[in-house]
Amino acid sequence: MMANTFAKDLYMMRRTKIICTIGPASENENCIRELIKEGMNVARINFSHCKDEEALNRVRILRSVRKELDVPLAIMLDTKGPEVRMFGYSKPVLLSKGDTLYIESTEKQPEDIADLPPEKRHFYTNLPRIDKLCQVGTRVLLQDGFIELEVSRLHAEWPGAVSLRVLNDGKLKDKAHLAIPGVHYPIPFMSEKDKKDIAFAVENGFEYIALSFVRTAQDIADVREIIHALNPDSPIKLIAKIEDKQALANLDDIIRDSNGIMVARGDLGIELPIEELPNLQKTIINRCYLAGKPVIVATQMLESMTEMTYPTRAEVTDIANAVLELTSSVMLSGETAKGAHPKRVVNMMGRIIDRTESSIDYHTLARITHDYVNRDEITNIMAYSVVNTAHDWNAKAIAVVTANGIGARALSKFRPGVPIYAFTHHETLYHQLALNWGVIPFLIENPENLRFSDVAQKIIDLLLKKGAIENGEKLVFMASSPFGKGRPTNTIRCEVVGDTAFHEET
Ligand code: PEP
Repeated sequence: MMANTFAKDLYMMRRTKIICTIGPASENENCIRELIKEGMNVARINFSHCKDEEALNRVRILRSVRKELDVPLAIMLDTKGPEVRMFGYSKPVLLSKGDTLYIESTEKQPEDIADLPPEKRHFYTNLPRIDKLCQVGTRVLLQDGFIELEVSRLHAEWPGAVSLRVLNDGKLKDKAHLAIPGVHYPIPFMSEKDKKDIAFAVENGFEYIALSFVRTAQDIADVREIIHALNPDSPIKLIAKIEDKQALANLDDIIRDSNGIMVARGDLGIELPIEELPNLQKTIINRCYLAGKPVIVATQMLESMTEMTYPTRAEVTDIANAVLELTSSVMLSGETAKGAHPKRVVNMMGRIIDRTESSIDYHTLARITHDYVNRDEITNIMAYSVVNTAHDWNAKAIAVVTANGIGARALSKFRPGVPIYAFTHHETLYHQLALNWGVIPFLIENPENLRFSDVAQKIIDLLLKKGAIENGEKLVFMASSPFGKGRPTNTIRCEVVGDTAFHEET
């Protein structure tokens, strides 16, 4: 049984959620327990760097600790995505400013290509017909953008190859990433590995899949088709990672058809001029906020703490800005997957979030979102009223009974200043809602056929037991009644905890 103090800490008012990538530095029970206690809400497993057996071990530990601590924790598989790589060398190659090198497109697999002498500066890429994607002067980035080149020649006599001039010194590591910013790469959105990994996520009951390099709404439809073929009832939710220009051009369609968005700043910062990132982040967060979809800000949030014990001032401000922009969640990558201080990093992120959130005027914010109510959806209309009722009545929290998460997500859209306690009997949904801004999920028994007043009392008893509410405090309920009939939201109910006068027999 958890100590009440831990329960209180856990159910305190942190609204912006924390995603931690689990890797060699954190894949043990003790560390996972510490990360959860510091505030990890979602555990991400990055399939760019992970074998199935490693992932299964991580999932096993995550499930066991979330059960032991009796907390919601979503598990997310992040796909590798289509990759444009350099090969034809097995040892790192030093490149110097002014060097000329040759890159040739090939359909062969890296393992089928023998090393060429490094002094020949001849390399291969899996990107088809690189010469058709470039002109003289086109910028090409290698090694995650650290080595910049410029196309110096196209070869009429050598189709599929280009010559490039190196613009800065750098070390080309094994299978370096190649990018031609702004270009649409003629490679499929899903590789065979991605398809296999998507099936792995479905078969092993992950709560989310984060899809790398989604470019169109059709990409999401294709993944849904694969999932449907594997399991038509799979409740898995899809997060679209926005990483390039094409995804940005289709942003509203992608937001509409996905269950959430990740601002994948690593690749976005390569595919677009890096100085565009702050404005893009703001735009993406805002569009998700208006659409009522969760949004994740990712990459290098506390990068320096991968090694150091203290963050840079710029990192602290970056996290705070994401919180002020009302992101649903912030993500840690290498910091928790391979860093020296995973627990310290999450603690630091939590402190920055808590301090920043305490400066936001949620009451004003909720009122001005009136224009963003979706008038076609009664749940949305009622959620707006519930949030403002909770503020005006000085309620301690909102309680929503939800079988499909729609009510909880609608409430989250209006960013209330009080916690949204979400009660569901679906275990997957219980864990999934851990990602949503301001939502604190609880697992309850199926309320079908129970009276509203009985369910409300059970909820109050549970919150009292968890230390999340006290006698005399006010709660605003939202639900669809009677339970289990699949009706849209139709009920708002106000309760003072422990005051029987408020408790009618309905
Ligand atoms: C990113 O590019 O910011 C990102 C999160 O994706 P990856 O999985 O490549 O780190």
